[in-house]
Amino acid sequence: MAEDAHPPAIPETAVPTPEAIEFARVLFARPSSFVMGAAEFEQLPDTDLPEVAFAGRSNVGKSSLINGLVGRKDLARASNEPGRTREVNLFDIDGRLRLADLPGYGWAKAAKTTTRKFQNLGRAYLRGRPNLMRAYLLIDSRHGLKPPDIEAMDALDQAAVSYQIVLTKADKLKAGELERVLRRTSDAISKRPAAHPEVLATSSAKGAGMPELRAGVAAVCGLIPGQA
Ligand code: GDP
Repeated sequence: MAEDAHPPAIPETAVPTPEAIEFARVLFARPSSFVMGAAEFEQLPDTDLPEVAFAGRSNVGKSSLINGLVGRKDLARASNEPGRTREVNLFDIDGRLRLADLPGYGWAKAAKTTTRKFQNLGRAYLRGRPNLMRAYLLIDSRHGLKPPDIEAMDALDQAAVSYQIVLTKADKLKAGELERVLRRTSDAISKRPAAHPEVLATSSAKGAGMPELRAGVAAVCGLIPGQA
């Protein structure tokens, strides 16, 4: 395929409407709270609210992204405290949905450094929550997809969990570099059955991509009025 025939990095159809952006802005500005850190699958709360999950290698910017979504500096801090990093941490948004901060990639493949229990929790969460609407796989835009990320995508494809790639720290790249990593990542996921085709570039530091991510979360949770 000729270079200029390549599809745009962000397909037009994926762009949320201004109404959806505004609805999601208001939703995520409503009260949010840390619900719990679950160390065991059985401790997870009822599946009465839609959930979306966030996963990624440590230092990818997961806490910053969750804080950025709700416009607070402190919501996801709990998940970085010692002992909490191996739990599924849940955050409530206005009693309408929950964000689940998943432990590192122990669930992707039997890593020697992680305990069996830890691996099982992440896997159990991804396979066992009927209210999980989408997992967001966070990738540092400076690094692109690395082997642990590929293993995570394999696990998500096998579990048939719908997931979307979110590039973090986009402010650290020049526009041309970001465009290249977006295309490379889009190409890499194009044949993956459970991957959403749109790769979202975000910066928690600058706010880029956050309105679109909020709108995407609200949409997959079925909360946007007039949208199924
Ligand atoms: P976590 O381990 O995945 O929860 O990562 P953190 O949210 O704690 O972020 C790891 C580091 O990356 C911290 O030093 C953050 O300040 C930095 N960081 C996170 N998001 C961004 C971003 O959007 N832009 C920049 N420049 N730095 C970021």
